[in-house]
Amino acid sequence: HTFEELGLPAEVLKGLSAMRFQKPSKVQEKALPLMLADPPRNMIAQSQSGTGKTAAFVTTVLSRVDHSKPTQPQALLLAPSRELARQIEMVIGHIGQFLPNLAVAAAIPSSIPRDGRVDKSIVVGTPGTVMDLIRRRQFDVSQLRVLVIDEADNMLDQQGLGDQCTRVKNMLPKNIQILLFSATFPDKVMKYAMTFAPNANMIKL
Ligand code: AMP
Repeated sequence: HTFEELGLPAEVLKGLSAMRFQKPSKVQEKALPLMLADPPRNMIAQSQSGTGKTAAFVTTVLSRVDHSKPTQPQALLLAPSRELARQIEMVIGHIGQFLPNLAVAAAIPSSIPRDGRVDKSIVVGTPGTVMDLIRRRQFDVSQLRVLVIDEADNMLDQQGLGDQCTRVKNMLPKNIQILLFSATFPDKVMKYAMTFAPNANMIKL
């Protein structure tokens, strides 16, 4: 299979080729058709880092966002650390480099001023900061259509992060597509994932 066969926007295909991603990795081959299908369905994916999972969910997010509304938040990606959030933001910038209205914000501690607004179509952040921004009404979540949780196992290993993700999710539109990634699925993580992303396609990457 090729990226072209997946029906991705031309600018995203150009971004993938500029990255020299010639064909989908195994992960991407399995996950992309499921993540991009309409109507959108939740997905729970087991995937180690190094398999191409970041590009898989970034490609999906870039394809699902309506880039004619760059100031309207439409996709939210949650990561367990600010470093990981920054890395994801960079991958979005690379794969999305040919989208004329690409707009990404990092929602990590001290990235958004206290009176500022989260006014970008794609938002990558850590759960506590995102929760605060929503509660203070600096972040309009009403038009979000896709939520990505990266490294769910690491989230649950850190005090409070799993609960914060749940609180954030409970403030989002009910029909949002949820994509949850984790390298490992001990019972605790599996139980959490199935509650967090109901009726999900499950894949092992
Ligand atoms: P990740 O699993 O997200 O940590 O990505 C692992 C590495 O694989 C990153 O350095 C990516 O740039 C690279 N990568 C992702 N997708 C592809 C692809 N389709 N072809 C070649 N390299 C890729």
